[in-house]
Amino acid sequence: MPIAKGDNPVNINNRRVINGKDADVIQLYPMKHTFAWDAYTVGNANHWLPTEIGMQKDIEQWRSKDILTEDERKAFETVLGFFTTADSIAANNVALGFYKHITSPECRMYILRQAYEEAIHTHAYQYIVESLAMDESKIFNMYRQVDAIYNKDNFVLSFNEGIFDDNFKTGTFENDQKFLENIVIFSLIMEGIFFYSSFAVMFGFQRQGKLTGAAEQIQYIMRDESQHLNFGINLINTIKEEQPELWTPEFQEKMIGHIKRAVGLEYTFATTVFPRGIFGMNADGFKQYIEHIADRRLEAVGLPVQYGVENPFPWMSEAIDLSKEKNFFETRVTEYKTGGALEW
Ligand code: FE
Repeated sequence: MPIAKGDNPVNINNRRVINGKDADVIQLYPMKHTFAWDAYTVGNANHWLPTEIGMQKDIEQWRSKDILTEDERKAFETVLGFFTTADSIAANNVALGFYKHITSPECRMYILRQAYEEAIHTHAYQYIVESLAMDESKIFNMYRQVDAIYNKDNFVLSFNEGIFDDNFKTGTFENDQKFLENIVIFSLIMEGIFFYSSFAVMFGFQRQGKLTGAAEQIQYIMRDESQHLNFGINLINTIKEEQPELWTPEFQEKMIGHIKRAVGLEYTFATTVFPRGIFGMNADGFKQYIEHIADRRLEAVGLPVQYGVENPFPWMSEAIDLSKEKNFFETRVTEYKTGGALEW
């Protein structure tokens, strides 16, 4: 689209997450969606790279015959099998779906940052697989071989259909609802439910002093992902304010239905990860955790909670809280910044 010439300032009130008038996606100021700029700033301050984390202890533990049981190895591999392709799926949706159709330049700034973070996460899994000398083709191909991963991925990927078509455009009631549904699927379900239960498995290992390098990688990833989730929640709530007509009772029921379906898929995944249970974690404990998380995601966008259960893994909220605590990440993040400053 050619640039409309003029000295009249851009009207901030015409700026929208989708369907922005003035259609100026390149003029950052005046900024309206400040949550996106805040997320961008936090993302930069949290910058990290997988190769900064030592994996020596994990390598020794993975090689040893006495540290990990067969069930623990299988759980670790299955969760990694999910993760290795999950961030690529997230990256594709962000880069090819969000970036194309979101018309707020400040939101687009964060989307660029988020897309890079998804690449860092895929790099982290690659680094874990390589460090432990695991069978790459087995782990990276699990999404096509393990039904529980395949079904989760297929579920979310089905919501790329339409959105990724060259002819898809927002601006009609039907297409705007379809795009909003895509954000619900990718932010609330993929990043907000499917990722969190796999994070919990990794922290289960960490709590036993096992594979702590991998768990540290996951802690950094979770810190990034909690920002991705917050950003997605902000996108949904802002679209609801800007285009309230989209949030019909039927649409709300449909979103609740998707979240319930995701809870079912995640429970099946948990039964694959722990057919017999490890570290006091088993599929039934997980079911309750998934339901607890699903309720939090529903609440965040103003939908009614469906399960009303307690958090069976209170230490998970500690792991999440840790990521907000200064001293946990302070050392490495400070070192990183200093290194960057010295080089330049
Ligand atoms: Fe993400």
